[in-house]
Amino acid sequence: MVTASTTPATLPETRAVPREAPAEGLVCRRCGALVTTETARIVRRDAHRHTRINPHGYVFELGCFSDAPGAVASGEPTLEFTWFEGLAWRMADCRGCSAHLGWHYQGQGDEFWGLVLDRLSRA
Ligand SMILES: [Zn+2]
Repeated sequence: MVTASTTPATLPETRAVPREAPAEGLVCRRCGALVTTETARIVRRDAHRHTRINPHGYVFELGCFSDAPGAVASGEPTLEFTWFEGLAWRMADCRGCSAHLGWHYQGQGDEFWGLVLDRLSRA
């Protein structure tokens, strides 16, 4: 016999979804170290995603990010072969495993990270 008088032990989940979802991490595909977050995605030169080809013929799909605490920029900034006119680049490598993740761009009062999207994955 079913009674209606028992105190419900569990209630349906009624908590509201937090208004600000936590930042979604993007990690290095090779070592899993946190590189940047979804919320750091930005638009530069009218797009977030840019397809570029280097002098050796390799094609890269870059995403622009305002910040990448898990990447380290190395070398001297150079305008040589830059993919963003007027912006100098440096190599950007993973702090965790030193994998090449993309480039850091700076100049014209701006700076951002251009990271190769298929070298990142969701945390
Ligand atoms: Zn790594």
